[in-house]
Amino acid sequence: MTPTRQGSFRFFRFAGITVFVHWTWFAVAYYILSSRSAVYASLFWNVAEYCGLFFLVLLHEFGHSLACRQTGGSANQIILWPLGGVAFVAPPNRPGAVLWSIAAGPLVNVVLVPVFLLLGFAADAAGLAGSSPNLYSLLQTMSVVNFGLLIFNMLPIYPLDGGQILRALLWFRLGPIRSLQIATGVGFAGAGALAVLAFFKGSFWLGIMAAFMVMHCRAAWGYARVLAARQGMPPV
Ligand SMILES: [Zn+2]
Repeated sequence: MTPTRQGSFRFFRFAGITVFVHWTWFAVAYYILSSRSAVYASLFWNVAEYCGLFFLVLLHEFGHSLACRQTGGSANQIILWPLGGVAFVAPPNRPGAVLWSIAAGPLVNVVLVPVFLLLGFAADAAGLAGSSPNLYSLLQTMSVVNFGLLIFNMLPIYPLDGGQILRALLWFRLGPIRSLQIATGVGFAGAGALAVLAFFKGSFWLGIMAAFMVMHCRAAWGYARVLAARQGMPPV
């Protein structure tokens, strides 16, 4: 369901965190490079846009990893694949540590929103649209993608960041098991809504995403049941 190091190659290592790229990521590269060729004047700018997207996802994942380390957890690898990036984080088993490890990823995008806005104002003031239209388009795209990543990741659909944040917040009051049950329940509903949207929009990617979420919610729901049975809690 999630990418593994099998089929991935080692890209680089920073702050004790190794970044791997799954081979399927190149399918995305091909798709982006071929579908957006009309936006820019040359292939160079398409490649630059692709690298920019790569960079945004990486910053987000490093947010998760470094925050997890801060809480005393372990986080030493990130894998990039077509559905984005996966930071393998194992925070200590307490809600505050989990909340911070998850929230730090979208927070990176939150910080980048005003950065891109300022860059946009500066670009307009400098007349970049006329003098360097490719760079101007690239900046605009990065800004939109950053905002899109933020909104999408904050949807409260487990295992998206929003869903995991919901779970961590509920954990403070309801404990680790009930919080996971409620978050995965909400996740099932959200993934169902996404599947309907994918159907009506005819979006292959949204459909894949919805299927991925359902599989994760099922696994997490099953895990919560096992934990509940172990503790003698009544099933829900
Ligand atoms: Zn994230």
